[in-house]
Amino acid sequence: MQTNGYTGQMLWVDLEKAEVKDAPTDREDLKRFIGGRGLGIKLLSELAPPEVDPLSPRNPLILATGPYTGAGVFSAFFNVTTKSPLTGIAAASHCGGHWGPRLKRTGFDGIVITGASGAPCYLMIDEGKAALKPAEDIWGKGVFETERLIREKEGDVEVVSIGTAGENRVKFAALMNGHRAAGRSGVGAVMGSKKLKAIAVRGKLPIHQAHPEKVTEISRLGAKLAVEGGAAFSKYGSSMAFDVFNEANVLPTKNFRSGHFTEAELINAEALKSGYFVKDRGCFNCPLRCGNLHTVPEGAYKLDEVEGPEYETLMAFGSNCTNSNLESILMANYLCNDLGLDTISCGNIFALLMDLYDLGIIKADQLDGYTMNWGQHESVIALIPKIAARTGVGDLLAEGSYRTAENWGPAALDRVIHAKKQEYPGYESRRSFGTGFSLVSSNRGACHLRAALYVNEIFMGEFEEDGFESHLATLINKEHYLALADSYLTCKFGMRNAQYTLPVLTELYHALTGIALTEDELMLAGERIWNLERVFNLREGVGADMIPPRLFSENLDDGKQGGEAISRERFLLAREKYYQMRGWNSEGVPSPKKLSELGLEGEEHDREYYSDRSGNNGSGDRSCGGLGRV
Ligand code: SF4
Repeated sequence: MQTNGYTGQMLWVDLEKAEVKDAPTDREDLKRFIGGRGLGIKLLSELAPPEVDPLSPRNPLILATGPYTGAGVFSAFFNVTTKSPLTGIAAASHCGGHWGPRLKRTGFDGIVITGASGAPCYLMIDEGKAALKPAEDIWGKGVFETERLIREKEGDVEVVSIGTAGENRVKFAALMNGHRAAGRSGVGAVMGSKKLKAIAVRGKLPIHQAHPEKVTEISRLGAKLAVEGGAAFSKYGSSMAFDVFNEANVLPTKNFRSGHFTEAELINAEALKSGYFVKDRGCFNCPLRCGNLHTVPEGAYKLDEVEGPEYETLMAFGSNCTNSNLESILMANYLCNDLGLDTISCGNIFALLMDLYDLGIIKADQLDGYTMNWGQHESVIALIPKIAARTGVGDLLAEGSYRTAENWGPAALDRVIHAKKQEYPGYESRRSFGTGFSLVSSNRGACHLRAALYVNEIFMGEFEEDGFESHLATLINKEHYLALADSYLTCKFGMRNAQYTLPVLTELYHALTGIALTEDELMLAGERIWNLERVFNLREGVGADMIPPRLFSENLDDGKQGGEAISRERFLLAREKYYQMRGWNSEGVPSPKKLSELGLEGEEHDREYYSDRSGNNGSGDRSCGGLGRV
């Protein structure tokens, strides 16, 4: 069946039965959830049994492209959805590179993987045909060796794979395509629990578009605008933000004790460029090519090549560990990419260890004998492979910051900076209250990409005059808009530079699919996706959004202006207002009316539970029941 903008087919893989089959993508689902992240949460809600163990065979792993994947500039991305082993709620993690567009040209919009294989295997998809193949010989290999070995067997293919971290179910393991990662929330551990090492794709099937000339016109203009306005981003990539955030004193430093790193110039974008840069690298059909390839020609951290580090990695392994040894950060980045680990979670775990070590809460004998002074990069580099292998203390650290600290008691737990058990990205909330709020309102645990509110608050200074609370509508709109972007799928860096505003996305959607949705209808789809994620998370036990308690009591100690602890009253008032504006109750439960407006009636399976939490007495004309439990 030809479907403009989509292939119209999904591949369903049952690893338990070693069966693959295709089935039409549900047209109505595509219209309501667009693709990618939207389609992912729709399928996860249907397929994951309540309370399913994320690492059990019954947890589905869903990889999905969107209508824009492979269609123009900034169209390299695909999305991975599953129940996260790190957070216990919905994970949605996206990845650029080259795999997504190639998958789509095999004739599939996405892949739904259920069950678990008895032995290591990989999936080969070749223009409408798919087969599971043995992978005993590549199990235990790093990402780069895995890709090389699969290309030796299969020829010219694109590969997404897990490293040993995923095999060993490290709770923050990533899926990798080269150096590009679907990094957050442990999606790689779910793939490892299924004994699925890799998915290789080859295809050149056409993807039909309703108005291809219009898609080309929009894409060309986007490329032109991006190249004209994004020269610095193109040159440095996201690492260019390192100095900006440091100068604004919102750069997490010393495990979030400070917002300013005095040695920033030793590890910033310019230091990378002048000392280690080899050449630019980009995702599929990208005019900006923001990926920078680096090398370390000699020394203890000698490296042939590594792409990055990006801003978040410089923060996590650099300023937040007060580590100004740039070569060690390059090596940490390389190890994480090859072993398949999320650099944000991994780096922040070491920042936490240094903090606990400094406070005397842990000793070297709890770290396999490694001392963990601030900036002690030698210990970091030695312990990263132990995390991936789950050997020694690595087995505990592989559980993530929250569970690691929980194991060491309340004093340790109090030092963890997380939301919904996921480590924070690089934004200091005490000087950027709105951005900090958006990290915890995020539906996948701490995340800067659900709303990218740092652009409004830190780059543009939009909240300076009247405070964040006057701009809650901006947050909510961006949460919906970026849910759309993750469902289309397009790169957020690229779309910002290409000025893919809502009118442009609306025109683009029509040009791709022929479906004439209005701007309001598209934004409603974004809101629908956001609310369905929330309903799923409620079912899996999420509570009202909350910042880490430390941020309510501890001032930043960098001597810069501001940085006082966040007022609990201010946070709770903002949360109450945010929930009200969303049509949610004070616990963050969407009202039956809101779900009805979004066409999500019946998405909540446990009527009694949902009725209790939504404030509905369960009688009368309630249009939805409820699913879930706390
Ligand atoms: S801007 Fe960077 S992340 Fe986005 S598509 Fe281009 S190379 Fe990839």
